[in-house]
Order: sequence, then structure tokens, then C-alpha cells
Amino acid sequence: MRLIGLIGGMSWESSAEYYRILNQGVRDRIGPTASARCLLWSFDFSEIERLQHAGDWTTLGERMVEAARRLETAGADLLLICTNTMHRLAPTVEAAVEIPLLHIADPTGRSIRAAGLSRAGLLGTAFTMEHAFYKGRLADRHGLDVLVPNERDRATVHRIIYEELVAGRVLPASREAYRAVIGELVARGAEAIILGCTEIMLLIGPDDSPVPVFDTTTLHAEAAVAAALGD
Ligand code: GLU
Repeated sequence: MRLIGLIGGMSWESSAEYYRILNQGVRDRIGPTASARCLLWSFDFSEIERLQHAGDWTTLGERMVEAARRLETAGADLLLICTNTMHRLAPTVEAAVEIPLLHIADPTGRSIRAAGLSRAGLLGTAFTMEHAFYKGRLADRHGLDVLVPNERDRATVHRIIYEELVAGRVLPASREAYRAVIGELVARGAEAIILGCTEIMLLIGPDDSPVPVFDTTTLHAEAAVAAALGD
């Protein structure tokens, strides 16, 4: 089994989910006492969030590269960045290490295509919904037509992530707000909803959407299990 290197703590609420899904996945595949071989580099998210909102992607790149190199030096065979947003720096990380980086958009794009769907609504941070690094990869590599919420709804989705979900607060009123945003996206033609922030799965599940939801946390962690076991 390959050693999985996790760049996490962004936030730890979702890194805990990665850890659970990785271990459950290996147990399901190998046997009841088997568990994932992994290393976790866990950031203090308050520093990451401050740098994101200050627009200091240069320092964030340095932080990501340092974590990636430390995990590689410690023996990791492959890397995961356990957040959609920080995949904005995926090319920087990939250029700094020899081991492969499993990009979170790829298992997501593949799963949507495998379900026979092509028009997807994307929920995530403003960075993920508004910049090209994520939507562009889904379009260019997976042929998806990606819809994002309108400006007011993007602000709502972003605020709930940073004020609530990363702080472990899962509120029914926010679930209702997300359900309304999903309804708008479906009315505009979305056939699938991408939970494109690794904490959204704490708030939203299949029952909250009239169309299939694709949870990036689960899909990314399951792809890591497959890679670690040599699929
Ligand atoms: N975990 C979130 C994501 O998947 C947001 C936290 C972050 O900004 O890294 O985008």
C-alpha cells in the first residue's frame, strides 16, 4: 500500500472526514483490521484564511510547497491537497515535488461524466467559484459546462463556509439557504451539484438537492484509496 500524504487542516473539520473516508475505504477493500497508511500535515487554518483574504497567494504558495516537500521527505508516495480552494496553487505544488498530486477536480469530473451528466452547478468559496483554476479544469479536462450561483448567492455560500462550517457550526438555517441556491442552479439547468468545498458535505447531502450531488471530499479521498492500493 502506498503512503498517502495529506496537506490538510484547511479546515481540520474536513481533514477529519478525509481521515475517516481513507481508513474506511481501505478497511472495505482489504479487511476489518486494515487501515490507510498516511501522513497528515495540518495547518493552523486561521493563518491560511488570513492570507487568502489578504490575497497573499505568494506566501500561501510557499506554505503549500513547504508542506508538500516535508511530506515527500517523510516518505509520501502521493499527495492530496485537502481543500478545493488551495488547488489554485496546485501547479506550484506539482512543480516543487517529484511525487504525484491527485487533483481534487479530476475524480469529481470523472464521476459526473460517468453518471452521464455534463452541466454542473458549483458551490464553493468565492475563490473556487470565481476563478478559472477549478471551473477551467472541469471544462477543459472533463468537458463539463459549469454554472456558478449569482453574486448574492455566491456571497452567502462563501460566508457560511468561513463563518460557520470551518468553525464546526452546522446550522439548519444555512442548510435552507444552500437548498435555495441549489434550487436556483437547477432552475438554470444544472443536472448535478458539485459540493466544491470540502466542508459542504457536513451541511448538505443527497436529500437536499433534486439532482445528484457530487461531494469532492469523498470522491477525492476514495481516489486516494484507489491510488494507494494500485488501481
Ligand atoms: N475547505 C474549503 C475548500 O475546499 C475551504 C477552506 C479553504 O479555503 O481552504 O475550498
